[in-house]
Amino acid sequence: MTDHDVIVLGGGPGGYAAALYGASAGLNVALVEDNKVGGTCLHRGCIPAKALLQAAEVFRTVGDAGDFGIRLPEGATATPDWPALNARKSRVIGQLHAGLSGLLRRRKVTVIEGHGRLTADGAVEVDGQTASAGAVIICTGSAPRSLPGLEIDGDRVISSDHATNSTDASLPERIAVIGGGVIGSEFASVFTDLGVSTTLLEALPDSVLPVGPDRDVANVLAKALKRRGTDLHGGARVSPLERTDGGLLVSFETKAGADKIEVDKVLVAIGRRPVTEDAGLAAAGVNVSDRGFIDINPLTMATSRENIYAIGDCVNTPGLAHVAYAEAIVAIHTILGERAVPVDYDKVPWVVYTHPEVAWSGLTEAEARAAGRDIEVHKHMFAGNGRAMIIGDTDGMVKVVAEKGGPILGVHLVGPWASELLAETYLAVNWEALPSEVGAFIHPHPSLS
Ligand code: NAD
Repeated sequence: MTDHDVIVLGGGPGGYAAALYGASAGLNVALVEDNKVGGTCLHRGCIPAKALLQAAEVFRTVGDAGDFGIRLPEGATATPDWPALNARKSRVIGQLHAGLSGLLRRRKVTVIEGHGRLTADGAVEVDGQTASAGAVIICTGSAPRSLPGLEIDGDRVISSDHATNSTDASLPERIAVIGGGVIGSEFASVFTDLGVSTTLLEALPDSVLPVGPDRDVANVLAKALKRRGTDLHGGARVSPLERTDGGLLVSFETKAGADKIEVDKVLVAIGRRPVTEDAGLAAAGVNVSDRGFIDINPLTMATSRENIYAIGDCVNTPGLAHVAYAEAIVAIHTILGERAVPVDYDKVPWVVYTHPEVAWSGLTEAEARAAGRDIEVHKHMFAGNGRAMIIGDTDGMVKVVAEKGGPILGVHLVGPWASELLAETYLAVNWEALPSEVGAFIHPHPSLS
């Protein structure tokens, strides 16, 4: 006799999606969470970061109002009110958290508060109580990485966890962002736009989004950041941080030589690590790789132990909330004994919510060429688009990579609302549509689409 059909370990996007999808399918589901349902994404990741980016956008818009013939009163200037800006962000999180909690209640998911661990017989133990289930889904997520010399103290040296939950009375005057990946680029964009003197230090030669997007698209973002004043350094070797009376001394070396800057804060954004160390995985016989990721069969999300599944940031697939949602659906279908449609990891949608936004799905030009595909590439600039001119945001392009005489292989966007424009291009890539098929559809005019 089992207590539940499914126990879900961890209440982030992977966990709550699995719980809600499973409950909708009629399964009796329990969700174990030791903090708040919503996880990193809702409380210290995607949602707060995007709320901060939106505040930066409003600040930019007010600053540019004169370009549209909108005058502020003589001598008036807008200033970011950091506590007020954070309070708005927290209200958005609060609403979403209440909505999610209500949804779990309405779908009759049993939420168990506490830290869950697997037991040797495949059950789950929470604070001394053990519950058994027909299946367990592990979605324990990930946490920011740090390195010796870059130890995160939550005050001067922070991670995205702290940057999204700041209780500081004001913005720092000077910040160094270490790592130019997705998190580093988004925060460099926020801080630059809010008037913080921002330096971005990336170990790889390309300073902004060195891995992932098409180079043409990433270069537009790098140029735009530079133009707004971000000090970008690629190929940077950062030495251990030193404390000074005024803040922190960041010493680094690039091809151009050695340099030192003093800053008030350092944001460490050098990647995330899976959180798999305290979930009873070894006891239950769930195999974990050298890097701490849970081994899975990507067709079913099954682990090495029968009836135990793993999804989301604790497995080595793209660390994206929407990928975790998709993996949750695969796991639930497998548990129901149905044939699951596996996630096509090479074609998932990626969005970086910087200004300008970067978004893509499918093969980059370089990847397509490296794979020996016979391709044609077309680039269209927003500079010639009426709607982009009207909204005053003409930086960027859409780049389409297609097989010669064949389907669209990848679409890469940078520019206004790239995050939303991606939806159609994602469909085209995943539907393996021909350019001529997509081209035959009518789009509204004037529009960015
Ligand atoms: P990342 O892997 O995207 O980028 C980390 C960067 O840090 C890399 O470019 C790496 O070369 C660099 N780096 C590593 N060590 C360094 C060092 N010592 N000095 C300088 N640079 C160094 O990781 P991230 O940006 O921390 O993001 C983590 C995860 O969160 C990713 O899986 C990402 O997909 C996810 N995320 C996604 C979004 C989004 O989809 N918009 C937003 C935030 C985070």
